[in-house]
Amino acid sequence: MHTVYSDEHHHQDGNVELFEGKMVKPHEIPRRAEIVLERVKAEKLGDVVAPREFGLDPILAVHDRGFVTFLQECWGDWVKSGRTFDALPHVWPVPGLLPAGKARQVSDSIDGKLGHYAIDAGTPIVAGTWRAVHASAQVALTGQRLVATGERAVFSLCRPPGHHAGHDFYGGYCFLNNAAIAAQAFRDSGAKRVAILDVDYHHGNGTQQIFYERADVLTLSLHADPKQEFPYFLGHADERGHGVGEGYHMNLPLPWGTEWPEYELAMDAAVKRILLHGAEVLVVSLGLDTFEHDPISRFKLQHEDYLRMGEKIASCDLPTLFVMEGGYAVDALGVNAVNVLKGFEAG
Ligand SMILES: [Zn+2]
Repeated sequence: MHTVYSDEHHHQDGNVELFEGKMVKPHEIPRRAEIVLERVKAEKLGDVVAPREFGLDPILAVHDRGFVTFLQECWGDWVKSGRTFDALPHVWPVPGLLPAGKARQVSDSIDGKLGHYAIDAGTPIVAGTWRAVHASAQVALTGQRLVATGERAVFSLCRPPGHHAGHDFYGGYCFLNNAAIAAQAFRDSGAKRVAILDVDYHHGNGTQQIFYERADVLTLSLHADPKQEFPYFLGHADERGHGVGEGYHMNLPLPWGTEWPEYELAMDAAVKRILLHGAEVLVVSLGLDTFEHDPISRFKLQHEDYLRMGEKIASCDLPTLFVMEGGYAVDALGVNAVNVLKGFEAG
């Protein structure tokens, strides 16, 4: 299996995130991608290839132009406003703030823009953020192109991750939704039915939002119950899509402490739904923060469970693009990610 990788991700290297009431060093760090790449090479998974450049068009096929411009210009505006440390929001337009019928306006102030586009204060923007984010999307798109032209499976080693980013918002360490961009690119290159399976510990809220009113891209997410876990406000089982998209989104929330036997049942339900959809291609949002020693998560999957996860994904028998998402037990991240890929190849 080819791995697509770019060193450009190093340009996203924040100093702080707001976590449990403290400003702490970010959990989402460059070392995450390095250790996965090292494991890919050590296990001889296959060739490591550099991304091609597909430009902004496939990004704008799922993201709002004003939002993308904000990501491109944010750091420059932040510096112009006299700040030099990481750009973080500190004020949000919660529902109910505005009178009924009054549309939300984007402020001219960079602080207002940050609150407008961010969902949390855990996702720092620094000088190199756009550069890294743009490259991460190209890594996903290059994997997409390889699968669309005949590879059975490709691993897009994206960083920063993407699944919390929506049409016009970022957060949860994510800026552009790499998996959604790739899924749309599959549609635009001729696939009629696509599925995105999100196995990150956290609900793939951005992916859900982007495709919520569509029937052509089935979205499924296995994740910690939002009653207990980030992103808290959605990811419930009764969110099933809307309009023509009704029935084309599936949330499988699981409780803290979930181990493989319960996780496997949820995976079986997801695989069944993917096959029912008649998907022609599968995009996997590959988060490894379900691991028992992940520092910000509370599932209990073990190293060897990821081999089984890969086998389950292979049982869909579809061309598959793996897109790297979360996972913060950094020392174990390479083993766990590559175990899924090895399990897939054996499956
Ligand atoms: Zn996650």
